[in-house]
Amino acid sequence: MTQMPDHDWTRQLDNALPTANVPTLLMVLLHLTGDKRWLSKRYQCMHIRGIDDHDSGGLAPEVQQEIRSAAREAVLAWKAGTAAAVPDPGLDELVEMLRCSVGEEIPYTYGPMVGAWLGLDRDFRINQRDEYRVPDNFHVVIIGAGVAGLCASIRLRGAGIPHTVIEKNAEVGGTWYENRYPGAGVDTPNHIYSYSFANGDWTRYFALREEIQAYFVNVSHRFGVRPHVRFSTKVESAIYNEGSRDWTVRVSDANGNADVLRANVVISAVGLLNVPKMPDIPGLGTFTGPCFHSARWPEGLDVRGKRVAVIGNGASAMQIVPAIAPHVAQLTVFQRSKQWAAPFERFQKPVPTATRFLLKEVPYYQPWYRQRLAWIFNDRIHASLQIDPEWPHPERAINRRNDKHREFFTEYVKKQLGERQELLADVLPDYPPFGKRMLMDNGWFRTATRDNVRIVNNGIQKIDSNAVITADGQRFEADILVVCTGFDAVNLLSSFRLIGRGGRNVRDHWDANGAQAYLGVATPGFPNFFMLSGPNTALGHGGSVVALLETQVQYVMSLLKAALNENQAGFEIEVRQDVHDRYNQCVQDAHARMIWTHQGTSNWYRNGKGRIVAPTHSVMTTTGT
Ligand code: NAP
Repeated sequence: MTQMPDHDWTRQLDNALPTANVPTLLMVLLHLTGDKRWLSKRYQCMHIRGIDDHDSGGLAPEVQQEIRSAAREAVLAWKAGTAAAVPDPGLDELVEMLRCSVGEEIPYTYGPMVGAWLGLDRDFRINQRDEYRVPDNFHVVIIGAGVAGLCASIRLRGAGIPHTVIEKNAEVGGTWYENRYPGAGVDTPNHIYSYSFANGDWTRYFALREEIQAYFVNVSHRFGVRPHVRFSTKVESAIYNEGSRDWTVRVSDANGNADVLRANVVISAVGLLNVPKMPDIPGLGTFTGPCFHSARWPEGLDVRGKRVAVIGNGASAMQIVPAIAPHVAQLTVFQRSKQWAAPFERFQKPVPTATRFLLKEVPYYQPWYRQRLAWIFNDRIHASLQIDPEWPHPERAINRRNDKHREFFTEYVKKQLGERQELLADVLPDYPPFGKRMLMDNGWFRTATRDNVRIVNNGIQKIDSNAVITADGQRFEADILVVCTGFDAVNLLSSFRLIGRGGRNVRDHWDANGAQAYLGVATPGFPNFFMLSGPNTALGHGGSVVALLETQVQYVMSLLKAALNENQAGFEIEVRQDVHDRYNQCVQDAHARMIWTHQGTSNWYRNGKGRIVAPTHSVMTTTGT
């Protein structure tokens, strides 16, 4: 029996529709009505420059109104009990829908990823208990209960696979548990920085650390992860036993008590950016005041009225500096290279209540809002990061489009500096945009114009008791020294000993050649061992690491499903050396054509030998990279 939605719900819908993202609403309409008319030329949204939600879709006001009115009718009918006409379109159709909502050409090969983003890919379902034949005594150990480990645990639980999560901290959340500096928050929109199976009711488009950490803690309760976790316990080593085809995992807790676990499969979810990299600056250890890495911000530290020095200007510094500048007496930022940072109108804005209603209540709205963001913020940028060998100005850009980006961002920086144009030379990067991870402008350029802020471009010579001494001998006194020099992203898996087949230590191989893995997940000589956030899986061109991790976990699950269902007696899943080598050659060849290897760029993506070990070379696919 159909029921009319209650008056209050209808009122909230009516209140919310004028604020709706029209291209997203158009997709809702297609699902609910199945009417292909909505894909016709009249409703094709326009392509946008830059990164923006593009709420109007570039459509004429009367067309927007037509979409809103039709959506109102369709959503009310759905609420009253009418099923969606096309709940699960085919992959090609999904691509055509996405094209219509972003006004761009999108290859049909992107279809499976759209299906995954929208939660329509059956393989990504959480509950698949009936599909896995799990033998007695089968056990998996996951190392880490951060974003990746939580996802792996949820999927293993859904498959009925017994497992233990070893977490060194006292709580889940990984990077969000550890990074507590002022201003900490995402610089990826939260509606994509969240699991496809656990929509968040975000209060801000880019949430701050407390809200994000609360989300992951909530997910750990809601999806039953916590009983599997051994908190405050560290993995010391994982050693493969060839005879029994299993792993011995040695752990120790906060009191130094040791324990040994046996595991058929080990999944490393230790993350890429959590081993702080301290700079090798003479005298750093002798600084007289508080001196700490950004990821180790002391609880309760009072910066008010203090002279603060910050080393580095990456994503962490870019959040800390604007957050503390209004409160400190003097802020001195020592930057080695300058940083591009992109504007995004909604960066620090709250999500209006009306929009939260749409995201929470209207079917298909949040999934499509996510999918559009994923394309606009992430995958479409990839094509613009390919080096054009014919481009005549490689000193400033890698291709024409990249040069347009440079012009656009340069104008933006100038505007932010206002009357302080003399600072332009101090802050404007001299390498192409995206040569380092593109940051979100958190008020960085405006902050540089404050009277109590100075940007120092001279290299640091040494630290001398309470001062930073630059290469030209200048002395900058400070009460507090914040070291924002990033993380060791190239020595992957350095936090525990990993010994594979034949007693081989992963370090011996990787330290010589750089970390490598097939699809970032598996490496030869280490059977039944899988990595999340492994080599060449970071998103150098922006986007959501959460979604990426979901695809990696899905790949591991597909391997486990096949192995468990085919061979109950015990299995070894190991990537073939030739397949692994061919894949990695492709990865490096692709990187050689990309911006990360361009002249004049330096970033945390490369190891000491110049090999790109951190970011992926490709757009996201459902196989993990
Ligand atoms: P980072 O991006 O690696 O930045 C490190 C900074 O320290 C750079 O400015 C670097 O200069 C400088 N530096 C490094 N070694 C130095 C030395 N010896 N002397 C002087 N300066 C030195 O580190 P991060 O800011 O912690 O961010 C790391 C990554 O974490 C980000 O790329 C991002 O993926 C993630 N993150 C994300 C968020 C977020 O989502 N909101 C926030 C924080 C971090 P050069 O540029 O010259 O190397």
